[in-house]
Amino acid sequence: MDFKEFFANEFEKVSFDVPLKNVTTFRIGGPCSVLVEPLNQEEIKKALAFCKNNGVKYFILGNGSNVLASDSGFDGVVVKLGVHFAQLWEEEGVLFAQSGAFTKSVFDFALKNELGGTEFMAAIPSSVGGAVVMNAGCFGSEMSDIVSRVWATDGKDDRVFSHDEMGFSYRDSVFQKNGFVITKVEFDLKPSSRNYILRLADELKTAKRLSQPLEFFSAGSVFKRPECGFAASLIDRCGLKGKKIGDAQISEKHAGFIVNRGKATCGDVLQLVQIAKSKVRADFGVDLQLELKLLGDTDDIRRLSYSYGVQPR
Ligand SMILES: Cc1cc2nc3c(=O)[nH]c(=O)nc-3n(C[C@H](O)[C@H](O)[C@H](O)COP(=O)(O)OP(=O)(O)OC[C@H]3O[C@@H](n4cnc5c(N)ncnc54)[C@H](O)[C@@H]3O)c2cc1C
Repeated sequence: MDFKEFFANEFEKVSFDVPLKNVTTFRIGGPCSVLVEPLNQEEIKKALAFCKNNGVKYFILGNGSNVLASDSGFDGVVVKLGVHFAQLWEEEGVLFAQSGAFTKSVFDFALKNELGGTEFMAAIPSSVGGAVVMNAGCFGSEMSDIVSRVWATDGKDDRVFSHDEMGFSYRDSVFQKNGFVITKVEFDLKPSSRNYILRLADELKTAKRLSQPLEFFSAGSVFKRPECGFAASLIDRCGLKGKKIGDAQISEKHAGFIVNRGKATCGDVLQLVQIAKSKVRADFGVDLQLELKLLGDTDDIRRLSYSYGVQPR
């Protein structure tokens, strides 16, 4: 059976030939063959098991805020965990979220329950699952500080990961390598006052607004922070701030971001990535590593992903 037919028959929330620019914050990317939005864990398992058993390519997408998608799209299945898998609840003072919930919703829910620690999450445009996978963070806080347990599946087996089993490090976790899809997250939060939580979240959001080009489409920081400092400052010192290829531009406000000023393509962004990488290597001897995840199967994506050691899916 053709994989499109399987998904059409078996899933309620499924669409075909969906432009990836509609589901990524970069607003870049051609069509994916199937976009399925599971409603529960069983549907996630069914999608994964089918793809694995039938050699169909798949990609797990959260809010698409750390993804650069290929101009020619993706001839496979994008499993999007978002609004249809986004419940939040509290049990005896402990907060839980399904992995498709927005980080901002977790913040709102924690605020309602007067639990502190999620303030930084309000400033990151992410799903809960994506934030755990990336160990997302800002201004000295990150997911590893507040996540105690994670439930995940690989389509066959379900597993619960304790904090120590999640292999957290800077913008990394074991979920970037082990093939498990996060379904549910438990948070370890401390009682706090509503006023304090709101004030801290406001301060963080203001600091972000002042330092990052939030007025343009982007996927956040393009590169990981190298050991010797900040990627943004190295790129800036190479004189590349504002450098444009097509409608893609190294942000004038924050050189660690590449922004889409209208109709940027994946190719435009990849060219800027290559320019920044080779100039920083030549001037400072530093090998910048991509933080972005690449989605697609074009030659460009393949070549870059191999040279960066990043899997295209
Ligand atoms: C304006 C802007 C500001 C940003 N600021 C920050 C910041 O301050 N700090 C920061 O750390 N990041 C920042 N980012 C980057 C991005 O928001 C984070 O990396 C975010 O956590 C990604 O989550 P997501 O749900 O969008 O995941 P996606 O981008 O959809 O996916 C990211 C990776 O996680 C995988 N994945 C997603 N969900 C699951 C799941 N449930 N199970 C298994 N794998 C999964 C995907 O396959 C992919 O490899 C910013 C981005 C933007 C656009």
